[in-house]
Amino acid sequence: MNALAQKLAELIRQDGPISISRYMALCLGHPGHGYYMKQDPFGADGDFTTAPEISQIFGELVGLWAATVWQAMGAPAAIRLVELGPGRGTLMQDMLRAARALPGFREALSAHLVETSPVLRERQKATLAASGVEPRWHDRIEQALEGPAIIVANEFLDALPLDQFIRTPEGWHERLVGLDSEGGLAFGLAAEADASLSIAAPAGSVLEQPAAALEAVALVASHVATVGGAGLFIDYGPARSGFGDTLQALKRHAFVDVLAEPGDADLTVHVDFARMALAGLAAGAAAHGAVTQRDFLLALGLQERLEALSRRATPAQAEALASGVERLIETGPTGMGELFKVLAVADPKLPLLPGFDLHRLPEQG
Ligand code: SAH
Repeated sequence: MNALAQKLAELIRQDGPISISRYMALCLGHPGHGYYMKQDPFGADGDFTTAPEISQIFGELVGLWAATVWQAMGAPAAIRLVELGPGRGTLMQDMLRAARALPGFREALSAHLVETSPVLRERQKATLAASGVEPRWHDRIEQALEGPAIIVANEFLDALPLDQFIRTPEGWHERLVGLDSEGGLAFGLAAEADASLSIAAPAGSVLEQPAAALEAVALVASHVATVGGAGLFIDYGPARSGFGDTLQALKRHAFVDVLAEPGDADLTVHVDFARMALAGLAAGAAAHGAVTQRDFLLALGLQERLEALSRRATPAQAEALASGVERLIETGPTGMGELFKVLAVADPKLPLLPGFDLHRLPEQG
């Protein structure tokens, strides 16, 4: 048992079994032992690699997207470019570089980062040191939202804690983390069914309640709907809601037991994009998408950007650029191009945002 597992076991012995959301929150955010609090987990040597770490073109296209949204807003003199969960700061760095393409946008924007991890804040500071922009950091989304804003979040919602319920003949019982007979962490079920849940489903079905992710989307949506702007959420998960346990732990690019190494493996869930879109609509925003990452990036000019960069590159660089792009749009159930979806929540006064007007494109392929 690692140090956090021992602390969790002690907590459970005292207070009883804990919810999945509490388990996730402690594994990822415990001040001393939480996964994101003590280390930089990204890259080939780390536990997982994200789109901005795979290809600079990802952040450049998202930066151009933000610039186009700013223009559609009427090019306000001051705009916040906010990133939620910026990791190493690579996406913000690439967005800021691409933002230079549109005169006036760089001068109008201020960069705001919502990040809870002190280790990753330092890393972001280093990444952005040469960007020519002085970013500001915030602990919580609410603090970053002021005035017209464009908010971007890649692989942020999947790290927010959720609760799980399992259907039995009596109703929905909350799934909990307790202790087995040897004192190790083990999954269990609440004795009583949750009276507030009445959804019909076959016995054994798992229902996930992503309260924190829904709240994050609602906060962004209600801000852009009332003050102006748009929010962009990119993550893995289905376009349509369904039942199932999506909690997963990743270490050194391989799946591991969710309970085996709390705080030493990344814990994530799949994002239910249909529910996120509904949360955005309920908060007063328009919802664009969700579309697949492949469709979104191709519509924003992925191939054209790849060709432009390749013309100036050595053969080895061009090959690396092409293989990065291929990973971002790879099809199939595990390819990033289709597993990842893109959802925007926007001020309803804005037109259909770039990347989402797919019907206007010529046939691909
Ligand atoms: N967007 C980055 C990193 C994704 S990993 C990329 O694409 O590479 C998730 C990020 O969200 C990390 O930076 C992590 O520290 C941060 N994070 C996780 N939970 C958070 C919370 N509740 N509030 C703010 N940031 C959080």
